[in-house]
Amino acid sequence: MDHFDVDLFVIGAGSGGVRAARIAAGYGAKVKIAEEYRVGGTCVIRGCVPKKLFVYASRFAHEFEDAAGFGWNVEGVSFDWPTLVANKDKEIARLEGAYRANLERSGVEIIAQRAVIEGPHAVRLADGTRLTARTILIATGARPNLGLDFPGRELGITSNEAFHLESFPQRIIVQGAGYIALEFASLFAGLGAQVTVVHRGDELLRGFDEDIRARMIDEMKQNGITFELGATIDGIFAFESGKRVRLNDGRDLFADEVMLAIGRVPNTIGLGLDTVGVELNEAGAIAVDAASRTSVPSIYAVGDVTDRVNLTPVAIREGHAFADTVFGGKPWSVNYDVIPTAVFTEPEIGVVGLPEAEARAQGRRVDIYKTDFRPMKATLSGRVTRVFMKLVVDQADDRVLGVHLIGEGSAEIAQIAAIALNLSATKADFDRTMALHPSAAEELVTLR
Ligand code: NDP
Repeated sequence: MDHFDVDLFVIGAGSGGVRAARIAAGYGAKVKIAEEYRVGGTCVIRGCVPKKLFVYASRFAHEFEDAAGFGWNVEGVSFDWPTLVANKDKEIARLEGAYRANLERSGVEIIAQRAVIEGPHAVRLADGTRLTARTILIATGARPNLGLDFPGRELGITSNEAFHLESFPQRIIVQGAGYIALEFASLFAGLGAQVTVVHRGDELLRGFDEDIRARMIDEMKQNGITFELGATIDGIFAFESGKRVRLNDGRDLFADEVMLAIGRVPNTIGLGLDTVGVELNEAGAIAVDAASRTSVPSIYAVGDVTDRVNLTPVAIREGHAFADTVFGGKPWSVNYDVIPTAVFTEPEIGVVGLPEAEARAQGRRVDIYKTDFRPMKATLSGRVTRVFMKLVVDQADDRVLGVHLIGEGSAEIAQIAAIALNLSATKADFDRTMALHPSAAEELVTLR
């Protein structure tokens, strides 16, 4: 009935591509998915998952400190980097296997090759095979931005390599102050490294609420991390067994590794996009409409390659909406309004909704509620850390516009707070919710 080899050809087996492929196959579509590296994509192979495993590892430093306050004898504990890396690799391999099995169980054929688009309905595999597809989905993700141009840039690593370092870097310099830079700075510090963050601006985490940004730097300094603000790296040079880093003010810093975490760029190069006329936006990402359709009607794109909101759950939703719409006859599009997010630093940040400054910039009059306290868990050890919570409330209708949290458990709390914000909860709704005591989250319903 159809003259195409497949109904759907997906390029890239990461979070968005895998979800789209499985859902489409579930509707009876004939689906092939091409992946040149490992099934699972950035999140599973070299992003969220291994990162969170490293974060867990790093947090034992504070756990041991607190444990001593509770009477445990924790003398003589030590950390072994190769064990962590090997155990993490085993878990990632298990997850990759699960992703493969799920795809195959859904009837999706995995092609372990790079694929390039040759026409609105045509792809060519690395081995030269040509295939036709009724619909093509680009889900190739993004990669670390290496756009800096200074001598020795190639001596720097990115998050990709940080997961596989043969030996633990006792001293590491991290450039950038976004999610990736601060998560790695935190986890390396927790594991015992001497960490320096080099950042071109004066404040961390652009786009986050100003109170959270200010608190984060205090907490990180408390954890022994050093900051070089208003600074950039002008050069990296091999020095003894490590690296010498030249800053823009002429000073030299020394480290075992230098990690560049200055954002990510969409993987659009070499895909054949210009051959078929798939348009990019000003940021160099694939331009799509609300249905994830590109400028070529038979070609769609989801996830980080479209640079909408670069988070795994968003890519998964985009892939799901695409498959329901194109293959399931159930059209819907992703709502980007209430997206909770976390930064897995120590302590972690959890956020949902608008920062105070953004709410005000939208012309809203807002009431601000804040609380700042010492977590009970740290009281017996005397460990210096705080929990900070902030609600941004619209004066016009009492709706909670933003929940901003920093402290242990913030990511878990932000996820649940997102349900409340999705339901347009008001401050009065928060207030009439019974507190759960003793918990940190109860502060959110007792704020006055
Ligand atoms: P971000 O965009 O979050 O941060 C980039 C950082 O690099 C900023 O501090 C920025 O500074 C700085 N920077 C950018 N360009 C330059 C330059 N030319 N020279 C010096 N500094 C520069 O990117 P990340 O790489 O940290 O993360 C990418 C995305 O991945 C995130 O935005 C997020 O969507 C996702 N992610 C999510 C995670 C999570 O959910 N926990 C974890 C990791 C990644 P400035 O502020 O001045 O612009």
